[in-house]
Amino acid sequence: GRYTKQDIIDLVRENDVQFIRLQFSDLFGAMKNVAITARQLEKALDNKCTFDGSSVDGFVRIEESDMYLYPDLDSFLIFPWSSGGRVARLICDVYGQDGMPFEGDPRNILKRVMRECKKMGYKFNVGPECEFFLFHTDEEGQPTTLSHEKAGYFDVAPLDLGESARRDMILNLEEMGFEIEASHHEVAPAQHEIDFKYDNALRTADNILTFKFVVKYIAKRHGLYASFMPKPITGVDGSGMHLNMSLWKDGKNIFADSKNHIGVSDEAFYFMAGVMKHAREMSLITNPLVNSYKRIVPGYEAPVDVTWSPANRSPLIRVPAARGSGTRLEFRSPDPAANPYLALAVSLASGLEGIRGKLTPGKGTSKNQYEMAEGEKKEAGIMMLPRDLKEALDIFENSDFIRKTLGNHIFTKYYEAKKKEWESYQKFVSQWEIDEYLYKI
Ligand code: ADP
Ligand code: MG
Ligand code: MG
Ligand code: MG
Ligand code: MG
Repeated sequence: GRYTKQDIIDLVRENDVQFIRLQFSDLFGAMKNVAITARQLEKALDNKCTFDGSSVDGFVRIEESDMYLYPDLDSFLIFPWSSGGRVARLICDVYGQDGMPFEGDPRNILKRVMRECKKMGYKFNVGPECEFFLFHTDEEGQPTTLSHEKAGYFDVAPLDLGESARRDMILNLEEMGFEIEASHHEVAPAQHEIDFKYDNALRTADNILTFKFVVKYIAKRHGLYASFMPKPITGVDGSGMHLNMSLWKDGKNIFADSKNHIGVSDEAFYFMAGVMKHAREMSLITNPLVNSYKRIVPGYEAPVDVTWSPANRSPLIRVPAARGSGTRLEFRSPDPAANPYLALAVSLASGLEGIRGKLTPGKGTSKNQYEMAEGEKKEAGIMMLPRDLKEALDIFENSDFIRKTLGNHIFTKYYEAKKKEWESYQKFVSQWEIDEYLYKI
């Protein structure tokens, strides 16, 4: 590990840290916090801090509500900003009173699949590409979907009004140990992307939660609102969270194989086939909102069907041109509303199933998937991603694979919550309907 308990105690003292946030993830990937003072640090490091699990969405009932936080020592960091005293954080695993990992803790689910991966001799590395919008707030400080920006892909200042906010985000993230590889303006006005270096899946999922928190925090300091909503504006690109994935063995990327078809190994193709096989079932995880499905439409660089390609940016899985250690599969449907722990758990479990069963993904497509007719797709046996949350719910509900991967607790609680979300949406009369029907009928 990076730090011992004593290291952390010393760092807290030397840096005059006053508060420590003990963080964990709820079922939907929202970061939860229990703040303690530095005086309670040793207690926390001895896994003795508790919180009321019944107050967290999808956790436990009131009768069994005391849950324990076990800090991951390696996740210790001190926030670079200070607001009346320095603040540090530790990301925690959630344990029950019985001293066992809590089955409703998403981090625990990812760890379980990673152990399976390790048993097969592999290490799973993931690099995410989180896209987001920077919007203005109104007089009351409430977020809007307005921006006064007209910049497009890779445009530079002075058009790019979010640029100074983005630069500040990067500086703070780097100070927190993130290795920022690239950042740029995205296709839509006010849309941005900041990429940080891949790491093992657990660290990456932790990083995604931290990343979102930092982006929102710094945006606010610039008077802007950062949103990771998948499709905030009709008619322009939505925000995705492409997951770049590779398996490693003995320090080597085993997705690379210069002697094989397009320089990519058989294992990579098996893995890809596994992800393609279960992509529809995992949509409720990778694309969890009613709004997520407004992004999964033709024409905006998001996939709509289950295909792969060595180049094209419309299929579900792309094999980017990089070879050697950069050889990877880019899984393009996930969006930043997904719980990263669960999204990576189901992706990895699917890929491993592909490897065990030596599944093959079929021929890649060089066609632009948006231009292919539905009949043509059907004939070629191409499956479509779910079109809305309801379809995703139905496929998810019938998936033994997903149930097994997530365990009954999360499977059931997650499904029930998402079903409620759909029912609430379905009852709501939207502006589109008023505009479309009120005057006509
Ligand atoms: P794109 O071409 O899709 O825009 P980016 O350059 O924005 O890709 O992002 C690439 C991401 O892939 C980065 O997070 C990077 O760290 C990650 N990456 C690079 N090599 C690997 C690898 N071998 N395994 C997993 N992720 C990788
Ligand atoms: Mg990118
Ligand atoms: Mg994009
Ligand atoms: Mg992008
Ligand atoms: Mg990408």
